Amino acid sequence: MPANLTMDSLRAAVAGDEIDTVLVCSIDMQGRLVGKRFHAQHFLDGGWEETHCCNYLLATDMEMVTVQGYAATGWAAGYGDYVMKPDLATLRRIPWLPGTALVLCDLLDHHTHEEVPHAPRTILKRQIARARDMGLVPMMATELEFFLFEQTYEALRDGNWRDPRTLGGYNIDYAIFGTSKEEEVMRAIRNGLYAAGIPVECSKGEAETGQEEINIRYSDALDTADMHAIVKNGVKEIAHAKGRSVTFMAKYRHDRAGSSSHVHQSLWTTGGAPAFFDETAEHGMSALMRHYVAGLLHHARDLTCLLAPYVNSYKRFVVGMFAPTKTVWSLDNRTAGFRICGDGTRGVRVECRIGGADLNPYLAMAALLAAGLDGIEKGMDLPPAMAGDAYQGADLPQVPKTLGEAAELMRASAMLRAAFGEAVIDHYHRAALWEIEEQNRVVTDWELQRGLERA
Ligand code: ADP
Repeated sequence: MPANLTMDSLRAAVAGDEIDTVLVCSIDMQGRLVGKRFHAQHFLDGGWEETHCCNYLLATDMEMVTVQGYAATGWAAGYGDYVMKPDLATLRRIPWLPGTALVLCDLLDHHTHEEVPHAPRTILKRQIARARDMGLVPMMATELEFFLFEQTYEALRDGNWRDPRTLGGYNIDYAIFGTSKEEEVMRAIRNGLYAAGIPVECSKGEAETGQEEINIRYSDALDTADMHAIVKNGVKEIAHAKGRSVTFMAKYRHDRAGSSSHVHQSLWTTGGAPAFFDETAEHGMSALMRHYVAGLLHHARDLTCLLAPYVNSYKRFVVGMFAPTKTVWSLDNRTAGFRICGDGTRGVRVECRIGGADLNPYLAMAALLAAGLDGIEKGMDLPPAMAGDAYQGADLPQVPKTLGEAAELMRASAMLRAAFGEAVIDHYHRAALWEIEEQNRVVTDWELQRGLERA
């Protein structure tokens, strides 16, 4: 299902007073949409060719702090501009915002018009091109979990984000009555996204009070990453319009399940045949698929930083809460980091369960693809599948336990450095270190509760 507007249909919609605003957006380091609201006529008159943004958009943290220590930009470099180049294949209606369309942009160097190497969309496009050079097309899907809260964003802010209330009071995993209470928001999300050209498969209650999941039909990896970014933004906006709020934090309470973003992956030939499928092989897994999964396993610890980019992300990896703690593979087993789904069918694929809902989809998919392609290029052997409870295997390889550990593994990964480029890895390593520096600086509620004298 492609984006649903062409320049011609946009022109007609503007002439017919249906659309007056075009959101011209790029993707920041956190995977969020950032950009400008164009008057639709200005977009048609020339804005569609390019616009500009401050290059600090790829050097700020979640709070838009001007983090120093990046080679790409900073106060010393004067924070110049990037070119935002609309990718017109992503032009679509945004039905939950009146009179509005949206287009995603690539970020280009202001002077050379080369793609910015550390821009999330560039990073993913380069790995997809690498796969295509091998005659392979990556198809991916992300499942996105989040919590839906009763209060508005403003009420949560007034309360210092202390007590977000869920609409129900019990685990709503697959529950129908439990999720009916959330249906005013969830129906608007499903239908709004669908009308924006996003092929929604379903939503379902997840394994915690107030937790929902939205599933989108798989597509080529760039389209999937674009849809993921738009879905996240749309879910936030639709909840806001309905007087509710959501969070995609990996773990908003230590005593509740975290939110994940599982990534389903398969490779197809350019002719449209499922390259992961061999009906004569065990589980229907082709030799190519076995090498790809071997590459994922081999590099899993090194790329975790790109699946779990914050200090908070690591609080999700706990035993017995459906988030994995081991980088092993298995067949249809939710305790392992990698699960084979659709075995024995054309839809055979590998699901990476490590990433949280806080991941940047472009970076996550690019890192997974780079690892899998390395496994194919090197003909890596797949170790035996794990069976049973992976939480228990003390000698199995562990998902890194902290952002610090994961950042160092990423920094030292020759595979990631070769695939993404030295400067790109250094850039995201700086981003991870900044998160740790900030956490070390701030005195938290937990420290106060533990450290202040008890009366
Ligand atoms: P489950 O509920 O067991 O996790 P689903 O059947 O709901 O599995 O599929 C999960 C996701 O996998 C969906 O988004 C779906 O579109 C996607 N998917 C299905 N087939 C493939 C494939 N061959 N490659 C990548 N993703 C796929």
